[in-house]
Amino acid sequence: MSVHIIDEANRCLQCKKPLCREGCPIHTNIPEVIRLFKENKTMDAAYMLFYNNPLSVVCSLVCNHANQCQGHCIRGKKGEPVHFSAIENYISDSCFERLKLEIAPANGMKAAVIGAGPAGLTIAIMLAAKGYKITVFDTKDKIGGILRYGIPEFRLPKSILDRYQKKMREMGILFRPNFAIGGSTSIQDLLNDGYKSVFIGTGAWRPRKLGIPGETFGNVFYAINYLNNPDGYELGENVAVIGAGNAAMDVARTAIRHGSRNVVVYVRDGEVNASKDEFELALVDGVQFEYNKAACRITDEGPVICDVIHHEDGSSELDESTAAQMLADSILISISQTPQSNLVNRDKELHLNARGNLETSGNGETTMPGVFASGDVVTGAKTVVAAVAISKQIAEDMDAYMKAQVEA
Ligand SMILES: Cc1cc2nc3c(=O)[nH]c(=O)nc-3n(C[C@H](O)[C@H](O)[C@H](O)COP(=O)(O)OP(=O)(O)OC[C@H]3O[C@@H](n4cnc5c(N)ncnc54)[C@H](O)[C@@H]3O)c2cc1C
Ligand code: SF4
Repeated sequence: MSVHIIDEANRCLQCKKPLCREGCPIHTNIPEVIRLFKENKTMDAAYMLFYNNPLSVVCSLVCNHANQCQGHCIRGKKGEPVHFSAIENYISDSCFERLKLEIAPANGMKAAVIGAGPAGLTIAIMLAAKGYKITVFDTKDKIGGILRYGIPEFRLPKSILDRYQKKMREMGILFRPNFAIGGSTSIQDLLNDGYKSVFIGTGAWRPRKLGIPGETFGNVFYAINYLNNPDGYELGENVAVIGAGNAAMDVARTAIRHGSRNVVVYVRDGEVNASKDEFELALVDGVQFEYNKAACRITDEGPVICDVIHHEDGSSELDESTAAQMLADSILISISQTPQSNLVNRDKELHLNARGNLETSGNGETTMPGVFASGDVVTGAKTVVAAVAISKQIAEDMDAYMKAQVEA
C-alpha cells in the first residue's frame, strides 16, 4: 500500500461541505466512510461504499482520483490531499467477501442484460437485489468488459473480477458467456421469451480509424484489439503508438512489459490527454513522447510522421513538408472507440444518433420499447465511474418500467 491509510483517515477534517464528495462523479459520502472506518465500523463503511457504487473496489484503483475526490479535497489546497482512494480500496477489498447483500424476495420477473462491463454489472446487481431473475449475456468468456479485456493486469488485477463473478452467482445472477446478442439471437427474441425488459451495455469496441493510407497493413494494430490479448502479438523492439489518451498509455506500458525496448508515443497536441498519473507512470516505465506530431501514412517500415500546425480557432493540420519516415516494427493506433453496430443491424427499432451512439431518452430507454441502455454504448468512450453512476439511475427506471407493465 502506497500510503498509510490510518494516517490518511486521521488527516480528514470531516468537512461540513465536503468538496471531495462534490468532485466524486458518484458522490461517495467520503467523510462518513472515513468516520466509520476510524470507529472500526469497517463493514458499515463497506456497505455504504458498495450500495453507493457496486464497483467501488474497481474505482478505487482505476478512477482519475487526482481530478476527482482527491483533486477536490480541501487539504490539497495547501498541501497533500487526503488519499481517499487508498482508504476506499482497503475497505472495499478487505470486506468484499463478507458483504451479504440484501435481496428482495423473487418478484417472478426476468430481465436480460447484454454486456458484462461496468454498466451491465451495475444493472445486474441492482436489479437482482430488487428480486428480478437476471441473465447476463456476453460475447466474452468472462465478466468485466474493458475491465478485463482492456485495462492491463498491472493496473487492475483480474482476480477482482473473478470475485465479482462469484458474488453475482451467490446473488442468483445467471451468466451466458461466449454469446453475442445480435447474431443468431435478437433482442426481440429475448422479449418474446418473456424477459420483461432488456438492458444494453455493450460498450464501444469498434476502433476509431486514423483514415490514412497503410492502416490495413500487417504491422498495424488497434489498441482495443491488442489489449484484449497482448500475448497474441509479437510487436518487436521498436513500437510507435499513435494517440495519447489513457488507453495509449496502457498500450505503451504493456508493450514495454512484453519486451519492446523503444516505445514512442506520437502526441498530436502539445500535451497528452491521459491522466497525470498514467502519463507519469508511462515516463517511469521508459515510454518516449514526441509532441505536436501525427502520422500521415504508414509504410512497411513504420509510420510517416509530420509536424502538426495548430490554428487559433482550435483546428489543426499536418505540415506535409515535414513528413519523415520513422522506423518501427509495429504501429499501435489508440484514438478511441465507437459502438459496434450488430445490435442495431439486427433489431431495426434501435436507432443510433449522429455520433454513432445508441439513442436513448432521459430515462435511458432506447427507441425500442422496454429496452434500456447506458455506459459507453450511449455516451461514447468514457469512464468506469460514469458508466456506473448513470446505470444506477437506469436500474431504477427499468424497475419502474417493469412494475408498471405488470400493473397495466
Ligand atoms: C484501454 C482502456 C483503458 C481504460 N482505462 C480506464 C481507467 O483507467 N479508468 C476508467 O474509469 N475508465 C477507463 N477506460 C474506460 C472504461 O473502461 C469504459 O468507459 C467502461 O468499461 C465502459 O463500461 P461499459 O459497461 O459501458 O462497456 P464495456 O466495459 O466495454 O463492456 C461491454 C461488454 O459488452 C460485451 N458485448 C459487446 N457487444 C455484445 C453483444 N452483441 N452481445 C453480448 N455482449 C456484448 C463486451 O464483450 C463487453 O464485455 C478505459 C478504456 C480502455 C479502452
Ligand atoms: S475534502 Fe478532504 S478533508 Fe474534507 S471531508 Fe473530504 S477528504 Fe476529508
